[in-house]
Amino acid sequence: MFVGHYGVSFATKKADPSIPLWVLFLAVQWLDVLWAPLVILGIEKVRIVPGFTATNPLDLYYMPYTHSPVAALLWSAAAFAVYRLLAHAPTRSAFLVGLAVSSHWVLDFIVHRPDLPLYDNTAKVGLGLWNYPAWAFGLEAALLLGASAMYLKAEPRNRAAIIVFSLVMLGVQVYVFFGPPPASPKAAAATALVAYFLFALIIWFLADRRASARTA
Ligand SMILES: [Zn+2]
Repeated sequence: MFVGHYGVSFATKKADPSIPLWVLFLAVQWLDVLWAPLVILGIEKVRIVPGFTATNPLDLYYMPYTHSPVAALLWSAAAFAVYRLLAHAPTRSAFLVGLAVSSHWVLDFIVHRPDLPLYDNTAKVGLGLWNYPAWAFGLEAALLLGASAMYLKAEPRNRAAIIVFSLVMLGVQVYVFFGPPPASPKAAAATALVAYFLFALIIWFLADRRASARTA
């Protein structure tokens, strides 16, 4: 899953407005933010196999450090601890940040083919929605647009810009699903990493920067 993860960011922001959206944008993609450099370093592995699933060509055959449930829980605990310490956040807020990190695995489980290892590199699971393009795209769109609409209902500032940004993210999803395959595994990882940080920067600019300027 790609842009659908951000639905969890908007929903969590609504549950706890004290957490900056850029933090939640990085939290929901944290497992992939770690996955990308590990792929570039050759520690986790992916092959580009055109036609591998009906929506994308990624054969994600080795990613035990980022996409096993145990790894997801450990990274979530780390996110909880780091956010609690660095942001001096209350336990509930830090818990929600950790939960946002965990949500990545659950949503990946719905769309990935069985490539998510329950432990080490075996017992792989995944419901495989990626093989049903209309459903896979519909789920990404529903999560992102549904939750961002929910968030915007109570947050009128920059509403138009955030709607446009959500639609642009959905456009990127269309390209990922229906555009040409990435040139190489490292190119796919590098592009994803740039997108995660760019999206976090844009949402900081549109939502968090104004919020902190208001309270300053
Ligand atoms: Zn992932």
